[in-house]
Amino acid sequence: MKKLLFSQQSNSRHWVGDGFPVRSIFTYNDIAREMTPFLLMDYAGPMVFPASEHRRGVGEHPHRGFETVTIVYDGEVEHRDSAGGGGIIKPGDVQWMTAASGLVHEEFHGADFAKKGGAFEMVQLWVNLPKKDKMSKPRYQGLMNADIPQVALPDGAGQLRVIAGEFQGAKGPAKTFTPINLWDLRLQVGHKIELSPPVGHTAAVFVLSGEVTLGTGERLQEAELAVLDREGADFTLTAGTDAKILFLGGEPIEERVVGYGPFVMNSEAEIRQAFIDFQDGKMGQIGAIEGSR
Ligand code: MN
Repeated sequence: MKKLLFSQQSNSRHWVGDGFPVRSIFTYNDIAREMTPFLLMDYAGPMVFPASEHRRGVGEHPHRGFETVTIVYDGEVEHRDSAGGGGIIKPGDVQWMTAASGLVHEEFHGADFAKKGGAFEMVQLWVNLPKKDKMSKPRYQGLMNADIPQVALPDGAGQLRVIAGEFQGAKGPAKTFTPINLWDLRLQVGHKIELSPPVGHTAAVFVLSGEVTLGTGERLQEAELAVLDREGADFTLTAGTDAKILFLGGEPIEERVVGYGPFVMNSEAEIRQAFIDFQDGKMGQIGAIEGSR
């Protein structure tokens, strides 16, 4: 059985732009080795926004060297990027954006959501790319709720949505550069699930809401991340209340991580180059794309 390596909870909130009240759950500055291929996770909300004519969010900014994965639980997020990617994602949808060699994007609340207001909750993950793929072409995958397989758990224990990877033969729609399992799990009070992600992969559990207990006895609470060992074959979760959980698993990328702001590369020289390329306009401009508005 997998053992708990450590768990951590974040209570400090900060704003990303004026749209995303986030708790920083982990970053590569602290636990790069333990969480690879995942670099960073921000948890925005849950929060109720009032109706507004002003659209909240974060304006044009670049990324290079990794992917941003945005999972919307409540509310709407609208995105546009300089590689021509864009779309609006709603509850249950996931945006898997590969920045790779570099792009500029903006992230706002959806126009309809902003006008009406309401509950907002999302997770944004940064997923690393292997050195050989960091300078590949940007890519945009808008994964709709209907395209994400939902596996009903036995005895009404809940459900598991496969965003990436595989669970009991159900395959997630996300195309990934390295093997990743990303599962959106809902577990009903009193029920238990056993999960067996691949041995050798990073394995972590994030509890968005509710309370769950690991088979090894540790109790996890809301907004808590639990990092498990890679050697054990399986682990169990038992829900003390109805719980909303994100499982993050993947093959480790054992390469040096050097990041600064919106860029995550393998060396300081590559970070300097990223700033030069961005300033030279090589990551593009959103407005420059024909028909993007
Ligand atoms: Mn961004």
